[in-house]
Amino acid sequence: TNPEISKMMDLYAKATQLYHHVLMNTELGQKALDYLHQRGLSDQTINDYQLGFASNKRLLKPFFEEKKIDYQTMHKSGLFSETHDDQLIDRFANRIMYPIKNEHGKVIAFSGRIIQASKNEPKYLNSPETPIFNKGKTLFNFDIAKQFIRKEHSAILFEGYMDVMSAYQSGVKNGIASMGTSLTEDQIGKIEQHTKQLYVCYDGDKPGQAAINRAVNMLANQSRLKLGVIQMPSGIDPDEYRQKYGEDRFKNYVRAARESTIAFKLRFFKNDYNLNNDEDRIAYINRSLKTIASSPSPVERDLYLQNLSSEFHLKSDDLRAQIKPYLIKHQ
Ligand code: ATP
Ligand code: MN
Ligand code: MN
Ligand code: MN
Repeated sequence: TNPEISKMMDLYAKATQLYHHVLMNTELGQKALDYLHQRGLSDQTINDYQLGFASNKRLLKPFFEEKKIDYQTMHKSGLFSETHDDQLIDRFANRIMYPIKNEHGKVIAFSGRIIQASKNEPKYLNSPETPIFNKGKTLFNFDIAKQFIRKEHSAILFEGYMDVMSAYQSGVKNGIASMGTSLTEDQIGKIEQHTKQLYVCYDGDKPGQAAINRAVNMLANQSRLKLGVIQMPSGIDPDEYRQKYGEDRFKNYVRAARESTIAFKLRFFKNDYNLNNDEDRIAYINRSLKTIASSPSPVERDLYLQNLSSEFHLKSDDLRAQIKPYLIKHQ
């Protein structure tokens, strides 16, 4: 093993311990701990994810020096920034720290969340890429989730880390998240090693819905995964759902709200049209037919054709005639 890599891993393990200690056992971490409790995270979850708190800009260096971590490793860790007089100060300060682990459960990065929303600072700050952290190759919670992905025969892709932890606490343990970007080929490959089925469960707000549409289009082209959507109620994200309705209802909802990508799209496309206007209705119906045609299953196609037919009071035979030109690729 490469000594540079193992020294960096060791630094991240020690930082994780310190941040966690500050959160759980010190006055400095009290307001962060209160915040997490107020969001309904249990101490069990906080421990399982080794959540922590980065209290101030002078926390890490003296601690690392005492632990005999060398300057080069600190300098390359991404956990520091340099002052004008070449001093290393902590990059993360006054943030709740979520450790990001590799698939073997070793911490390789952090995402830090501010406690109070602020115009001047981003809500989440991720550590930069380092010799041990490549964000395109990392899936949040994959170390824990992969055994449950096998057991459940499916994975659930959430938008945020907090959604994944919320799901875990509710007993939905096959959840993962990307590092705030769309899935890469490498991440898709990792998921495909454990399951054929992926559900996308993003936020119920507008950006979340648009992101579901992008994700399922990308995955339909770039992966062999069977796809489904778990639609959150309008305006709320999975973590907010758990906070509002509790863990049992969360777990039931995630099971019950599964739908096909076609059902998702037929609803999502409606945002683009004024369905009181005939021209728009026709355009919407045509776009829907194209989407329905993309299903290789005649039964699935027929189901959605019949839905369209009753929704818009059209003859099924007319819809069947109109979908024909779009079907060619399945013949
Ligand atoms: P919380 O519940 O703590 O407010 P969230 O997960 O609901 O967080 P969203 O605003 O829905 O946050 O964003 C979803 C995800 O997008 C986050 O978990 C994070 O990975 C990423 N993200 C959001 N804002 C930023 C940012 N300013 N910089 C980098 N990544 C971000
Ligand atoms: Mn969001
Ligand atoms: Mn969210
Ligand atoms: Mn949220």
